Amino acid sequence: MQNRWQDNDARSCGDSDLALRVYTSRLLGQDADLVLHGGGNTSVKSSSIDIFGNTRETLYVKGSGWDLKTIEAPGFAPCDLQYLKQLATLDSLGDSEMMRQLRLSLLDPNAPTPSVEAILHAIIPFRYVDHTHTDAVVAVSNTPDGEHLVKQILGDEVLVLPYIMPGFVLARQVFKETRDLDWSAVKGIFLMHHGLFTFHDDARTSYGNMIDLVSRVENHLRDKGIFTNLATAKYATTQDDLLVLAAVRKRVSGLAGRAMLARFDTDDLSAGFAALDNVTAIATRGPITPDHTIHTKLIPAVLGDNPLAAIDVYAQDYRAYFDRHDDGSLTCLDPAPRIALWAGKGRVSFGPNHKRLGVAADISDHTLKCIQWGEGLGGWQALPEQDLFDVEYWELEQAKLKKAGNVPVLEGRVALVTGAASGIGKACVDELSAAGACVLALDINPAITTLFTGGQVLGLVCDVTDANAIAESIAQAVKIFGGLDMVISNAGSFTPSSNIEDMNDGDWQASLALNMTSHMALLRSAIPFLKQGLDPAVVIIASKNVPAPGPGAGAYSAAKAGLTQLARVAALELGGDGIRVNVLHPNAVFDTGVWDEKTLEARAGHYGLTVSQYKQNNVLKAEVTSHDVAVLARIFASPDTGCTTGAQVPVDGGNDRVI
Ligand SMILES: [Zn+2]
Repeated sequence: MQNRWQDNDARSCGDSDLALRVYTSRLLGQDADLVLHGGGNTSVKSSSIDIFGNTRETLYVKGSGWDLKTIEAPGFAPCDLQYLKQLATLDSLGDSEMMRQLRLSLLDPNAPTPSVEAILHAIIPFRYVDHTHTDAVVAVSNTPDGEHLVKQILGDEVLVLPYIMPGFVLARQVFKETRDLDWSAVKGIFLMHHGLFTFHDDARTSYGNMIDLVSRVENHLRDKGIFTNLATAKYATTQDDLLVLAAVRKRVSGLAGRAMLARFDTDDLSAGFAALDNVTAIATRGPITPDHTIHTKLIPAVLGDNPLAAIDVYAQDYRAYFDRHDDGSLTCLDPAPRIALWAGKGRVSFGPNHKRLGVAADISDHTLKCIQWGEGLGGWQALPEQDLFDVEYWELEQAKLKKAGNVPVLEGRVALVTGAASGIGKACVDELSAAGACVLALDINPAITTLFTGGQVLGLVCDVTDANAIAESIAQAVKIFGGLDMVISNAGSFTPSSNIEDMNDGDWQASLALNMTSHMALLRSAIPFLKQGLDPAVVIIASKNVPAPGPGAGAYSAAKAGLTQLARVAALELGGDGIRVNVLHPNAVFDTGVWDEKTLEARAGHYGLTVSQYKQNNVLKAEVTSHDVAVLARIFASPDTGCTTGAQVPVDGGNDRVI
């Protein structure tokens, strides 16, 4: 493991205790193998001055909600050090009460809540304390001879303590075990199945000791030839896989009681692990460390020839596991898996939103690696089930669940929008993603790939008049989001004005291809996935020209009328599968790519109006915007309109010919 300390960087941080604490915490945070998704925390003992000018001994400890990789000074909660040390002398303290006491110890009421391990940091008598849930060391401890091996590799400089659940009892254990310890003789404390502490009065040494100790263990794995020697395989996803994936995601959503995303990974590590002959046996022995159960549950599901049945069996087993350990006071979490290994293919991760799915997948990546290390050291062996249950159903975790706020209405759902780089399409992507949905955004404009950031929207270049390109784009999205629930079929283009007697064949054909046929191809590719969708719905963006055509727009109006008729047939064909199809007829939406100045002048001219008269030529005298259309599209795509299909709704400010 690389020591990332740089003298120049450290100097430029300033020389205050806290500034160096921020610096080396960020160094730790850069290694996911050390501190994966909250698996670690740091502190520094220093002082602060209160309003009376008194100096207070202060423990600055990582606050909850902060990530070591990006932490800043305000991310460290300043606590009264003596108060925390006194807490460690209590015989017992419930964990909820401990959290209340931690908040009471704060010297700044606006600071974040101190880490649950704050008391432990307080009793270690050095200025700097670094704590990680290092993959390598914890993996070695998860083997039959783990404790002995860890001691052998790390030597007498590290105090190795048996596993005990995080929280007050752990702080109490360390307090008791170290009362007579000669601290000058140890560089670190390793808590079995949990993680490593290093400490020193010098920030650089405390951090360096962490890197040295972890490197010793990594080198041992290297010497054994197992550090990088992990199973790899290639697997090419098929259309059938994706349809099964969508069905599995639907089943998992049902079990979870909410919409869930799914991601199918077939990278070397995932496919390699899934291809192992003993995948079922080794995947289901338990996690690296118990706090991963919050994100991944104890074990993954293993999918074979009948993935849906495997998901059901997983749920039954989960409920039985809960019943085995529940003392009657607990609420069972949903029994849906968060990770599934698909034998011979790869790995599927599940999550209620894009972020949490990513956390589960990341943890699984590390788990697949650690299990193989454990196998190389005599056999992967996780903690007993009771210890894992105790963390999964820890009172602090249960309290967090009860506090969980409202979720966005479309969270966990997947939408597809065409013509998504501008105008109505872009407004639809914004509207759907703001409501929590993941969105596949297609456009022929290459800007689509960088228009949306953050991973919740997948922007792909796609010419929707190419049916194969549509099918490939949908396949890409299903692989990373797990399915398809909503389609906003919007791509379109206004054909140059022309009366029929002057009609240009090319314009006519181009209008039919884009404004009508491409929508058919989109539906054809989407329908198999919509049939496995959650409250599936299609919204077709047609035009006011369908109910109220105008002269000179034959190519556009005929294509949009054909599209509307296609939508009506689709509503009839798909209703049996619960798929709703509704049509919006926008008009006078002038903030779209369709309306350049020339087109505006031409259309206004056809009616003998000026451009500004033409823009507000409706009953409400309203200027309709893309956002107005997108709001209706979102409503018709959402379960809120679950009893409406085959409708045609104007978004036109009111048109006396339509009314
Ligand atoms: Zn820890």
